Amino acid sequence: GVSARTPFIAGNWKMNLDHLQAVAFVQKLHWTLKEAKHDAGTVEVAVFPPFTDLRTVQTLIDADKIPFGLGAQDLSTHDSGAYTGEVSGQFLAKLDARYVIIGHSERRQYHAETDEIVAQKVQAALRHGLVPVICVGETAEDLEKFGASAVPVGQLETALADVPADADIVVAYEPVWAIGSGQAATPEQAQEVCAKLREVVGATLGPDAAARTRVLYGGSVKSGNIASFMREPDVDGALVGGASLVVDEFAAIVRFQ
Ligand code: PGA
Repeated sequence: GVSARTPFIAGNWKMNLDHLQAVAFVQKLHWTLKEAKHDAGTVEVAVFPPFTDLRTVQTLIDADKIPFGLGAQDLSTHDSGAYTGEVSGQFLAKLDARYVIIGHSERRQYHAETDEIVAQKVQAALRHGLVPVICVGETAEDLEKFGASAVPVGQLETALADVPADADIVVAYEPVWAIGSGQAATPEQAQEVCAKLREVVGATLGPDAAARTRVLYGGSVKSGNIASFMREPDVDGALVGGASLVVDEFAAIVRFQ
């Protein structure tokens, strides 16, 4: 997008790369970008490893002064207590995680996360100073029945109820049919829905939030299509899955300009 918003390229590793592989990957990505003389100030880069990698990646980023943001892929609606297997936002904040993905379609599909649970997780993230990366998107069936924007707009409206106007959030439009399919949305499709999502931010949090909030596109983003998305005025970056696991490919996405 052409705006004052710093472009944001986020790598969602999903359930890939153990903590040893993560070290090698982050070091290699850092050196690849350094060698290409990439200016870290022009694009914000963040990685979203599995929970078990977070401590290791945080230590590496800190020790080597690597300019990547760190995020988790999910968090609990609760802060602590008898919730076996859950991970609290306060633990993530202690690890210097800045971001947390919330409501990814794989969580909605395989873990029955409803819009209400997503809204509770957004609140949990904000309670601990984490920036929620709120994922919304329609399935192929939704697209046929309701068009592209109705479902993601409704999902975002529920997620943002009770969010304060000054909250720092990121929104990711990820059409479910485009995730991992190799069939990305067109830049025009992405722009249309991202513009509607920005309107939702404006209607719920106000015009300042609409102007400042980064809205990302996600779903089969690659080095070959990133530039076309980034030319759209309401697309401020990308949430990248598969292509975020290949150093040269992810580095090329970061260097889309
Ligand atoms: P993909 O995944 O880039 O592999 O399509 C995107 C995502 O699920 O965030």
